[in-house]
Amino acid sequence: MTRKAHSPLDSQRPPSVQSPLETLVAQADSLAGVQQLVVGCERCPRLREHCLATARDKRRAYRDWTYWGKPVPAWGDSQAELLLIGLAPGAHGANRTGRMFTGDRSGDFLYRALWEAGLASQPEGTHADDGQMLRRVWMTASARCAPPDNRPSPKELQQCQPFLRRELQLLPRLRLVVALGGIAAVSYLRLLQEQGELRTLARFPFGHGRLYQFPKAAPLLCCYHPSQQNTSTGRLTAAMLADLFRQAATWLDDPAFPHPGVTSLHLQEQAKGRPR
Ligand code: SF4
Repeated sequence: MTRKAHSPLDSQRPPSVQSPLETLVAQADSLAGVQQLVVGCERCPRLREHCLATARDKRRAYRDWTYWGKPVPAWGDSQAELLLIGLAPGAHGANRTGRMFTGDRSGDFLYRALWEAGLASQPEGTHADDGQMLRRVWMTASARCAPPDNRPSPKELQQCQPFLRRELQLLPRLRLVVALGGIAAVSYLRLLQEQGELRTLARFPFGHGRLYQFPKAAPLLCCYHPSQQNTSTGRLTAAMLADLFRQAATWLDDPAFPHPGVTSLHLQEQAKGRPR
């Protein structure tokens, strides 16, 4: 049984102006190589200072921890079919543990939903050596350093884009991108725009459960970010998140996905017609 694979971004096409780091990232020949470059990155002084200050000052509950404090690399299954894009590391979560979505409430919510969908080996992610494994999923973010107030600036997001660009190129089996929040969706859409897959982002408004398809690139499935702001208000429930990832896993099991003609529908509308 063959599955449709997407190579959404042309690795031979260089961005117009490249910094030395961008050149190194573009030349990285593996996801591990990208991870290494992420960890050593110092491009955004404001974010680096914030991460180090948070690691030094610590939260009282974690005063016995040695915080990671460095940029947090993406992680997961190097043969992933699903790319999961978050916003940025949590100051006392991934910035503490060194693994994305690990050690805070957003991660608790997310890993449980992935586990329920069969995309993670454990319902929790507490620390980098907890035995958690992602299945079919590569977990990344729009920015790799924890930003003050969870808000990276447009320039900081742009400076972090080369890592996402290269990860997309290094995932040959990719079939679906799940964006956690509007900023993550825009990060992916901007890369598609750069590659000529779309002209304007205005045709792709963010909405939980919306699925967008493109001529060559992997489809985009939008999902509310599992931030405390969303989960504590009920905007995003555990059931909603688990449903979305179950749907995503069903699509990955379907060799005919993405179905032609489906361009932008809400998850529930999609679910009505999904193969059983
Ligand atoms: S946010 Fe990205 S580009 Fe900026 S310093 Fe961190 S890793 Fe580097």
